[in-house]
Amino acid sequence: MRLNDTQLAQVDAQIKRLTNTDSYYGNVFKEAGINGVNSQEDFEKLPFSSKEDLRNAYPLGIQAVPDEEVVRIHSSSGTTGKPVIIPYTAKDVDDWAIMFARCYEMAGITKKDRIQITPGYGLWTAGIGFQAGAEKLGAMAIPMGPGNTDKQLQMMVDLKSTVLTATSSYALLLAEEINRRGMRDQIHLKKGVFGSERWSRKMRDYIQKEFGIELYDIYGLTEIYGPGIGINCAGQSGMHYWDDYVYIEIIDPVTGKNVPDGEEGEIVITTLVKEGAPLIRFRTHDISRIIPEECPCGSKFPRIDIIRGRSDDMFKVHGVNMFPSQVEEILGRVDGVSSEYNINIAHDDTKNRDVILLTAEAEGRVDFEQTAQTIKGLFKSVMSVTPKVTVVPVGTLPRTEKKAKRIIDHREE
Ligand code: ZN
Repeated sequence: MRLNDTQLAQVDAQIKRLTNTDSYYGNVFKEAGINGVNSQEDFEKLPFSSKEDLRNAYPLGIQAVPDEEVVRIHSSSGTTGKPVIIPYTAKDVDDWAIMFARCYEMAGITKKDRIQITPGYGLWTAGIGFQAGAEKLGAMAIPMGPGNTDKQLQMMVDLKSTVLTATSSYALLLAEEINRRGMRDQIHLKKGVFGSERWSRKMRDYIQKEFGIELYDIYGLTEIYGPGIGINCAGQSGMHYWDDYVYIEIIDPVTGKNVPDGEEGEIVITTLVKEGAPLIRFRTHDISRIIPEECPCGSKFPRIDIIRGRSDDMFKVHGVNMFPSQVEEILGRVDGVSSEYNINIAHDDTKNRDVILLTAEAEGRVDFEQTAQTIKGLFKSVMSVTPKVTVVPVGTLPRTEKKAKRIIDHREE
């Protein structure tokens, strides 16, 4: 999807403003001799920005406005190394709330709703984003934060919460608890708005059934305001995003080249009007695609598909992109199979084709040969590839404390 004239002018203005500051990206552009963009081609030549940059700019090197204009910071949790700090101006905070309120509206939520907010408040962008959006919309925010299940359920019942916002794992926990306590009749929830983390269909179906609610996936990341830059509509196909605030392009994560609309790749986001910490071509490592067709819901806001995984986890066989999550989902459908597995990918030079060797574990009560055939069949129908499958007894594959490396690629680059 190409930049429209307004977006192009906005990016141009952002770059000109940045180069007038002593900020991290101001210096990046100055050193590269870039002082604006006039066309799509110019834009696609601009350097990418990354989380790595933001770490290098720690703590406030990215700040692109004077101190007196910054009203708040947020930080994304760094699992490794330094955290990332993002400064916001008053306008940034307000813009984010406007986007978030739009998300609620897209989900059919109105000012009559009561929104129970269970994501955490604090340095990260979750709780406060859900809250500001609810207030901007005019709904009643119930700012619970995470944990304390007894209190959550009490509020949910007594205040007749109609919307639950949560991480999918916490929603699952609450659903199980409501089920266990036989409280289903006392719950008034109609909709759930959940962070678009990767979650299995099984989990989704369970939450939907247990609560009897409509589910909405909200998209966003701390570096780009926070959650709230996009959400799925009632049509449930893909997520609309707010292209008056962000420009989204999809690139091949390996070559960095833009891919045609409809094709899968890494989401790269450019903020169009952000003041405190504008980002140009920020690599998210989230894998999705632009959905080129107009949405049946009638909204003119463009759409991206639900997030398929992280580019860091993606592997490619016969030109097909695959993710560990898909493998896990397939194995989860086979009776008696554990969640442990590994995949070796090699290239057979004599036949000039890739070979996938999958090792899975199964309980002794099932027939290993038959189980291997079932797995093979599922791979063929779901992923369009046929692996060689070996089934071994549960406990055979190594267990490690650390996140196990399950995909081992022996092919040469
Ligand atoms: Zn729609």
